[in-house]
Amino acid sequence: MKLYNTLTKKLETFKPINPEEVKIYTCGPTVYDYPHIGNYTSYIYWDLLIRALKKNGFTPKRVLNLTDVGHLASDADEGEDKLEKGAKREHKTVWEIAEYYSNYFLENYNKLNLTPPDIIARATDYIDEDLALIDSLTEKGYTYETSDGIYFDTSKFPTYADFARLDLDHLKAGARVDFSSEKRNISDFALWKFIKDGEDHAMRWSYRGRDGYPGWHIECATIIHEKLGETIDIHTGGIDHIPVHHTNEIAESECAFDKKMCNFWLHCNFITIDNEKVSKSLGNTYKLEDLEEKGYTPLDFKMWVLQGHFQGTRNFSFDDLSAAKSRRLNWKNKAASAYQLKNIDKNADLQEKILEAVNENLNSPEAFSIIDTNELSFEDWKFIDELFALDLTREIENLPDYVSRLISEREEARRHKNYALSDEIRDELAENNITVKDTPDGPIWQYLK
Ligand code: AMP
Ligand code: ZN
Repeated sequence: MKLYNTLTKKLETFKPINPEEVKIYTCGPTVYDYPHIGNYTSYIYWDLLIRALKKNGFTPKRVLNLTDVGHLASDADEGEDKLEKGAKREHKTVWEIAEYYSNYFLENYNKLNLTPPDIIARATDYIDEDLALIDSLTEKGYTYETSDGIYFDTSKFPTYADFARLDLDHLKAGARVDFSSEKRNISDFALWKFIKDGEDHAMRWSYRGRDGYPGWHIECATIIHEKLGETIDIHTGGIDHIPVHHTNEIAESECAFDKKMCNFWLHCNFITIDNEKVSKSLGNTYKLEDLEEKGYTPLDFKMWVLQGHFQGTRNFSFDDLSAAKSRRLNWKNKAASAYQLKNIDKNADLQEKILEAVNENLNSPEAFSIIDTNELSFEDWKFIDELFALDLTREIENLPDYVSRLISEREEARRHKNYALSDEIRDELAENNITVKDTPDGPIWQYLK
């Protein structure tokens, strides 16, 4: 398998530390609001990664975190904590907000047919471990305290700028003129924030005699260390994570543990919607339910996502979603035909070709064009379902008995030239989303939608 590694800026052959346990970490959502369709795109691509690893004989072990504290409105350690903001908006406690949106996210994750992570870790369950990590960084001289928190001194980590190819001099020059924080360097970041007297921050833990809460990045460094160990195989996220979040995770982890944090870093690109960036003010932060209300299933959306490459820029439109929906229906019906025509023998070469496309940096669009241009058996469609989890074959094998009976009864009626009855049955089948087509190979049932 070849994967584009943000760390080396190269397409590299993937070599795990231990093929029996490929350690993978995915930065999860901040659970303070409904995720929009842009947020789900990354998890869809990482599911393809997991499924492809399995097809290549590896055994992945994946951790996903849920950020339920410490993610401030701005990545620069400023602004309100997103969870506190959600609680105020909905007149709920922060804990209720975290619980509600975590469950909501995981329900939708299931609707997209995504492989459940082996471990789901909530940031607030790791506060003691965060503090131990901060203590260790402090002992090694990497931290300093200001009036509002404990900061990581990035000038002490000589390779800090390497991961994102940051131009720190340029950053310094571009910093706001009123930049008045007590930070020693523009790129320094908060490991821990102190809560000011009178400040409204419900999630709080005592440290160094004051109440405070963790900075955003530390949860990932901590959880990775706790659940996967010092060096992991693959770390995934969105491109927005490269310059701040992942750069800071690397600094924390590598300075605390003196080990390379991760061998392969994968980042997916952002989608735009109707050629605009996804934003509340533009009113285009569609949820999966918004698509469902317009007649598209979560798996139609997944089809649209996988039609593009994870590193490509993608523009979402309802026209394109309709095209993806039709393509998925077409695939389902091809699978249904193969099943009925007893075209069931596995085509090993073709399956190999499809997997090879995916193995070339998760090239799902290329794999999809191979699928479109070849005759596939039902076994091949099952293979495609294992790889892309688009739920094409499950219903076909489980066609309800009464639907099968209706199909036979329709045949019987037509044989007896009882067209009134056969039309009646046709309508009844349509109510069950089935139509019957007469083909040279005999009648074949197909899905209507
Ligand atoms: P958040 O819950 O805000 O931490 O967001 C989770 C992740 O969703 C972000 O860090 C991005 O990696 C991803 N994301 C946000 N917007 C988009 C988008 N428009 N397209 C693709 N991914 C996105
Ligand atoms: Zn993270």
